[in-house]
Amino acid sequence: MISREEINKVVSKYDKKKLTIATICSHSALQIFHGAKMEGFRTLGICTPDRRELYESYPLASPDSLLEVENYKEVLEPEFQEKLLKQNVIMVPHGSFVEYVGASNIHEKFSVPMFGNRESLGWESSRKKVREWIKKSSVKVPREFRHPSEIETVCIVKFSGAKGGRGFFLTSSEKDYEKKMKMKLDEGVITKTESENATIQEFINGVRYYPHYFYSPLMKGRDGNGRIEMLSIDRRMESNVEEIYRVMAAGTLQELNINPSYVVTGNAPITIRESLLPEVLNIGKRVRESSVSLFGGIVGPYCVEMVCTPELELYAFEISARIVAGTNLYPLGSFLSAYMFKEPMSTGRRIGREINIGIKEKKLDLLIY
Ligand code: ATP
Repeated sequence: MISREEINKVVSKYDKKKLTIATICSHSALQIFHGAKMEGFRTLGICTPDRRELYESYPLASPDSLLEVENYKEVLEPEFQEKLLKQNVIMVPHGSFVEYVGASNIHEKFSVPMFGNRESLGWESSRKKVREWIKKSSVKVPREFRHPSEIETVCIVKFSGAKGGRGFFLTSSEKDYEKKMKMKLDEGVITKTESENATIQEFINGVRYYPHYFYSPLMKGRDGNGRIEMLSIDRRMESNVEEIYRVMAAGTLQELNINPSYVVTGNAPITIRESLLPEVLNIGKRVRESSVSLFGGIVGPYCVEMVCTPELELYAFEISARIVAGTNLYPLGSFLSAYMFKEPMSTGRRIGREINIGIKEKKLDLLIY
């Protein structure tokens, strides 16, 4: 395990005037580079050859330099890490970074300083741990059924890993569950191990919100102890469930043999009625508070994925403990960040801003691990 002391030692040797913000070219990388550049940082992208063109196409968001890899796991190789350390790199983790490199690999082998608390990545990549975290935050969670025979309502069946909804299906009985699970296995969409470890969760019908929070240990919140900012909100566009109604004119989904799919393909902006905002903000606060006793506390961006029911109750089903791709909607800020910052403030830029404050106040150790 890479210790906090080890990382602090590395950062203490860094030339603070020549820090480089780096990330893997995927997910929210353009936004991260764009924001870091706005904050005056040098930027570095790690990309596979097929991604080079895209990341060289947007002058205001293209990284100052690109390091090519064939496979993202190469970032774990000591020689590669050495290259990053030489450039005083602070790595910004995002969903694809965690998925491609692996939370435990990052924890055990990646000795490059990262923005935020790397302990949070191990928590967010385990469904069981996320559930424990949500419950500890006194936020409502959908019911879960240990065995398909217990299914007594519409359920969503989920598989592990941040794979953006791949293979998920809806079911409402044990018989249907067995049939659909066999189909997924036969089609090779999921592995046997994934099927054995599937989560059967009550499907909450309502509107989904994905609020983007940011915890700053350096700013003073209302209680004087760090500040929780709600910078923006999105809603995911998942294929094909988002537009499935368009084929329903031709018959029922069953007749047409169409299964809803929850694979994420994009994001759309959404506002929340103002009377619900206090609770959404409070959920962000409680999730941050409980993270302190669970693993030392989340730092920087995070998101609580939730559904609002017709009774206006909010259920949380997932936490992302790092920047989420829905923030890509707001490179110049959002309808919420505009009330907090005089200048355009994306989550990517907010990360750069926090690092700048950390340098100025000599408190980088509170932001990096
Ligand atoms: P990611 O890591 O990319 O967030 P994931 O594999 O962890 O994805 P979830 O975020 O839990 O999966 O779920 C994917 C999608 O499935 C959600 O965005 C949502 O649309 C739907 N979903 C998940 N759980 C529920 C639920 N309990 N009720 C209603 N919809 C749900």
